[in-house]
Amino acid sequence: MGRLVWLIFAIFLAFSQKCQGKIEENDVNEGPFKVYRIVPTTGWQLEEMIRIFENADSEEADFWHPPSVVNQTVDVMVSPKNTRFFEKFLQNGSFPFEIAIKDLKKKLIEKEGDEKLSRFSRSRRIFVEKIMRDGPGSGLVMGEYYGYATIVDWMKRIADRMPRLASILEIGRSAEGRGIFGIKLGHDDGRKPIVVIDAGIHAREWASIHTAMYFINLMANGHDSDPWIRSYFDNIVLYILPVLNPDGYEFTRNDRTNPRSRMWRKSRSQQRCAWDGQSTKCCHGVDLNRNFDFRFGEVGASRYPCSEIYHGESAHSEPETRAFANFLMNLGDRLKGYITLHAYSQLWIYSYSHRKFTYPANIEEIRNVAARAVAALGREFGTRYQYGTGPEIIYAFSGGSTDWATEKLRVKYSYTLELRPTYEEWNGFVLDKRQLIPTAKETWAGVKVVIDQIILEYRTKIARVFRQRVNAEALEKAEQRRISLKGKCSDESQSCLHWRSQNPDICRTSQSAMLRECPNMCDLCHLVLP
Ligand SMILES: [Zn+2]
Repeated sequence: MGRLVWLIFAIFLAFSQKCQGKIEENDVNEGPFKVYRIVPTTGWQLEEMIRIFENADSEEADFWHPPSVVNQTVDVMVSPKNTRFFEKFLQNGSFPFEIAIKDLKKKLIEKEGDEKLSRFSRSRRIFVEKIMRDGPGSGLVMGEYYGYATIVDWMKRIADRMPRLASILEIGRSAEGRGIFGIKLGHDDGRKPIVVIDAGIHAREWASIHTAMYFINLMANGHDSDPWIRSYFDNIVLYILPVLNPDGYEFTRNDRTNPRSRMWRKSRSQQRCAWDGQSTKCCHGVDLNRNFDFRFGEVGASRYPCSEIYHGESAHSEPETRAFANFLMNLGDRLKGYITLHAYSQLWIYSYSHRKFTYPANIEEIRNVAARAVAALGREFGTRYQYGTGPEIIYAFSGGSTDWATEKLRVKYSYTLELRPTYEEWNGFVLDKRQLIPTAKETWAGVKVVIDQIILEYRTKIARVFRQRVNAEALEKAEQRRISLKGKCSDESQSCLHWRSQNPDICRTSQSAMLRECPNMCDLCHLVLP
């Protein structure tokens, strides 16, 4: 029965996949994009879902929350022309399901606003920009989304205003030729530990980009007013790269209320073609977070170019991945923390995520910091996060950036964060704008735990090195004194030479008696002379 259901769906998918790689105007007129929430309750229902997930074209069935275990929800966005078929498929297979979002376009307008539609938001922005223009981190109001050029320009202005504290960096270029920019924050003495935070490797995860920008804003504005922030400038070097996939991000912004573009996940690299059994199909883009050189292509990734989790031709085949991997490698062993921001599900994920129960050697420390970070995050607004490895709390995947950093670069604290909302909520990637600042604020509370731990370990190490140096200097001084006073005192007893002939080791074995009786013979003048 399962096989039959799958076949029907496969045939319908093949039938419906005529036009790839471009946005179809017709969809918008045909009817709404819908998001379905399905709960596979049996083994074969789960298998069917996984089969669709691995084979489906992301333009037809886009998995927002992929299938992982029985009884865990699966969220799928389905294009207008496929909703009828999809519902039939679910009914035939007796899948329990609900329609989570009846009209995604409507939801996008309602939750993310359209600048043309929201005059209030535009006038508020102009007003606040005006009064903030001269501050150090000024220029952009938080709680809004911005285009890539605006974000880069904003980072440049911050770096210009804080020349000794911040600088801009370009790690490489994207497939479409955009510079991939980040900002460096902190007094770099060449020794301090480094923490790297990135966001936006998945194009549609806008809340992650906003969160990274919020961190930059906090650091830029906090140096003069917040002692805690100032201590970060003094004790670490922090790199923040808010948009690792600028091509994808710009693509999602092109037609923001069209789910086909707004919900794009991958990069926008050149089309790759593959035979799907019915026809040759070509699609743009690679899932950059499946393209890293860690267990490449093993699990939770697809070799099919039209899949939303297409891993690319080979590890680091994509310019964005290569640029970022080289950037991290060049930081050397000062790189102690790496955090990548994603959305959504409220998870704090650590290594390794390709297989259950595989961990790095220092898993206890990694888990302990994650637990404390999640607790600190929750104290802000009561938001609850789960922590664990990918397969423990969401699903197994390989080729991700944090696992690569853990294994290949030995980065001690390497975490993937999935921000709000929880997957029990219906909104998925369409986070209400009013939640953006609270989301960023609570995430910062968690990130601070990681940074503070790295600073503590660094200072402990510095203190130990300092103690060792002081001890070594004291020993060296004593030795010099011993040499300079050699033979400068006299022995009390006449029998010194005799005693030593009886016991050659007597200077060492009876040191206190020899110090009194034979200091000169035993080379102890430095201890008896003033
Ligand atoms: Zn993501």
